[in-house]
Amino acid sequence: MASRPAVFIDRDGTLTEEVGYVNHPARLRLLPRSAEAIRRLNRAGVAAVMVTNQAGIARGYFSEDVLRAVNESLVDQLAKADARLDGLYVCPHHPSEGRPPFRAECECRKPKPGLLLRAAAELGLDLSRSTMVGDKPSDLVAARAVGAGGVLVLTGYGLGEWEYRRATFEVEPDHVADDLMGAVDWALARRVAA
Ligand SMILES: [Mg+2]
Ligand SMILES: [Zn+2]
Repeated sequence: MASRPAVFIDRDGTLTEEVGYVNHPARLRLLPRSAEAIRRLNRAGVAAVMVTNQAGIARGYFSEDVLRAVNESLVDQLAKADARLDGLYVCPHHPSEGRPPFRAECECRKPKPGLLLRAAAELGLDLSRSTMVGDKPSDLVAARAVGAGGVLVLTGYGLGEWEYRRATFEVEPDHVADDLMGAVDWALARRVAA
């Protein structure tokens, strides 16, 4: 099977509202056009892959079972809108908080690209035609590390990062979008066919 492009999507602040640690499924809320954006990717044959840092696990703020329930709720909410993620990838680690095995200098906590590399290997993705979308500079660094495009969304932390902190960005975004839908529009037009 030929490898296909993907859009990698950060969770908190990009796909869902940034509300701090999501320690209960009731705190998880899709942003307004998220399901529509995922549905567009599904219909275009582009993999939609969530990649998220969840250091709340390492910090002991919530368990792996709670994380699983939260992500199941996300999948359910998307399914009700006829939208489907092709993969959900999570880094539960933190380099200095909590206890092993979650206190770890891992390769998967963004800005490191481990989650993207794992997804590419498991799902057969063409990283050079892929795009990473997120609301933080660390999402852009992970994108650049694997040769994917990087889009900053202005939801979540994105607006503040872009307005007040862009001079500190190690990696410039290839595009800045109002939200995930805008990012998907750009990725489908500019990245996928290349
Ligand atoms: Mg985020
Ligand atoms: Zn990790």
